[in-house]
Amino acid sequence: MFRLTRDWVIKQLLFEEFRSYNDVVRKAVWVGIKVSLLACGLNICAHLLLSWFDLLPYALSSALIVASVLTPPITFILATTAYVAVGFSIHDLGVSRAEFERLSRTDTLSGLANRRAFVEMFDQCDREKSMLVFDVDRFKKINDTYGHQMGDAVIVEVARMLKAAFGEDCACARIGGEEFAVFTGSMPFAEFVVLGETARRNVAEMQMNVGEREISVTMSGGAARSLPHQTFDETFSRADKALYAAKSGGRNRIVLSYSTEPVSANRANNAAAA
Ligand code: GH3
Ligand code: MG
Ligand code: MG
Repeated sequence: MFRLTRDWVIKQLLFEEFRSYNDVVRKAVWVGIKVSLLACGLNICAHLLLSWFDLLPYALSSALIVASVLTPPITFILATTAYVAVGFSIHDLGVSRAEFERLSRTDTLSGLANRRAFVEMFDQCDREKSMLVFDVDRFKKINDTYGHQMGDAVIVEVARMLKAAFGEDCACARIGGEEFAVFTGSMPFAEFVVLGETARRNVAEMQMNVGEREISVTMSGGAARSLPHQTFDETFSRADKALYAAKSGGRNRIVLSYSTEPVSANRANNAAAA
């Protein structure tokens, strides 16, 4: 019973019947009608029973009139008011729960998904996937030269460009300070990498004004493929290794990792080949 009630409340918190105040009022009226009819029926039955056992201290006819005239409006008002009060509270709790859930999955600075949400989305997608990890080049220098606020503005701008380049078919996230990740489960690897190149180019061509000066930034990327059963961690280590290669190769570029084997197996294979 306790478990059933608990499950019911949680289900309602997910907006089953309490999506809006209007829904609550509509449902309250319906519950009020049902409760008042039930109460009226029970009241009449109770009077009939008492009368049957000769226990009724007043006339049955007047008792039935009072029961059927007074019981419905009183119980309707009580049941509807109680349901509205509880329903509005459940609605408000549901709204704040949804907002809390949204905030816990969103990076406040960029508005993109955060690392936690990204990992969850990635691990829940049971298709072949492609992942790109981007890192803004020499970002520390931007902070040191123009200030942390300018660094933040760059992060916001890069996030906006990633979202614009990858569109709705890809999930974009800020997974660290100036690190971003994107994945798709609905696009061939080659097509995904082309979008990545567009994003990289757009960022490199972007000019941001600081006082009278214009600054520009670049970013490097590492791309990796992922088999359906492979987790975020496995795929990320390949993408991150490719990103490292992009950094050491001169930055402002994307390096691709075609292998779907774990990074340690890659190393073993490379060592065997050498
Ligand atoms: P590389 O090209 O090798 O990536 O060099 P880098 O300077 O970008 O790399 P590094 O990891 O040394 O610097 C990242 C810097 O990002 C260090 C940290 O102070 C800064 N940072 C981390 N989070 C934020 C943030 O939210 N806002 C700002 N403005 N800076 C941040
Ligand atoms: Mg970094
Ligand atoms: Mg960096």
